[in-house]
Amino acid sequence: MKELIIAINSGSSSLKFQVYEFPEEKKIAKGLFERIGLASSMDLTYSLDGGKSSRSVKGETHEDAVKYLLDFLLEEKIVADLSEITGVGHRVAHGGEFFKGSCIVEDESLKKIKSLSHLAPLHNPINIMGIEAFKNNLPACPQVAVFDTSFHQTMPEENYLYPIPYKLYEEEGIRRFGFHGTSHQFVATEAAKSLGKKLEDLKIISCHLGNGGSICGIKNGQSVITSMGFTPLAGIMMGTRCGDIDPSIVTYLGRKKQMSFAEIEQMMNQDSGFKGVSGISSDARDIEEAFEQGDPKAVLAMNMFCGRVKQMIGAYAAELGGLDVLIFTAGIGENSPIIRQLSCEGLSLFGITVDEERNNTRQAIVSQENGRVAVMIVPTNEERMIVRETNQLISK
Ligand code: ADP
Repeated sequence: MKELIIAINSGSSSLKFQVYEFPEEKKIAKGLFERIGLASSMDLTYSLDGGKSSRSVKGETHEDAVKYLLDFLLEEKIVADLSEITGVGHRVAHGGEFFKGSCIVEDESLKKIKSLSHLAPLHNPINIMGIEAFKNNLPACPQVAVFDTSFHQTMPEENYLYPIPYKLYEEEGIRRFGFHGTSHQFVATEAAKSLGKKLEDLKIISCHLGNGGSICGIKNGQSVITSMGFTPLAGIMMGTRCGDIDPSIVTYLGRKKQMSFAEIEQMMNQDSGFKGVSGISSDARDIEEAFEQGDPKAVLAMNMFCGRVKQMIGAYAAELGGLDVLIFTAGIGENSPIIRQLSCEGLSLFGITVDEERNNTRQAIVSQENGRVAVMIVPTNEERMIVRETNQLISK
């Protein structure tokens, strides 16, 4: 009998899935339901053996999508019986301070995840909907929650607290949480493996650069500092998010321009970053193209983005007290030689070098032969990490 684990990432109108066979950890199917709840049907795109297919599916809720998915797995003979699905792992945005690692979802843990919804109002309730849809349709199958925040729960107090009155932490739980934890943990583990070293022996900085981006300092296999904060708005400049800015800008805009909180939030989350500075696009590919043509705003946006990544790398090398591995991952990190190069420029004092040829041809290691730090491109794969965690927990 087969042993299959499904990774689920549910969004407000979408549900992404990947099916892995264990113990080989082999991906055998993936797909995406979109436009859930927008009409009486939704779109499903999927790939079973490389080729992409799509179809329209009747239904309007996440639960309908899950029911369809289970029938689909039977129909496509991916499973002979639903009991071959031995676990389902769900990406959950926020684990607060409760969850220091992934967990099997039982009544008690589900209650805790629900109680954290105020910290991630756009994500946790939707993630819970995904979990409940599987609980209803596969009641005997263990559900596992894998949190974006839990990898960062090892940060020391001095790094997760903000220098504001301590009682705001005690009363309101205001602190740095950090996100992208699954990705940082995955790429750090893969980097150590490919270098033939133990993760615990390496000082690593991981740069997850996508539409959203964060940087993480890892020592003894644990996150000690990360750039996102109480929310995913903090840290480096992103596609549409501003990252760290002087907090007084918020109150100044409120007073000077009578902007509401909602307007300022919109400005910082949706109208800033690459998009806001360049006025061209939030997409790094468009910025790169305009940068190459010498568009002054694109040049500025690029220099601001890479400058902030570089400053963070320098700061985190100081925090770690040295550096062995620098990782670039996610859409931009994996695919943009120019951003990798500019972000590393001038960092040779930390032992960071970039070999032009290796960088342009996207080698796994892009640093120079004699470079002290291994600068690496490691493709992230949060779904693989989710099924791995799920397998570990259900095997216990
Ligand atoms: P997220 O998961 O946060 O939505 P991704 O990790 O998919 O984001 O990354 C999206 C970003 O990656 C976009 O800014 C996109 O322009 C960039 N990207 C993708 N491919 C390339 C490429 N070949 N060159 C430069 N940037 C790229």
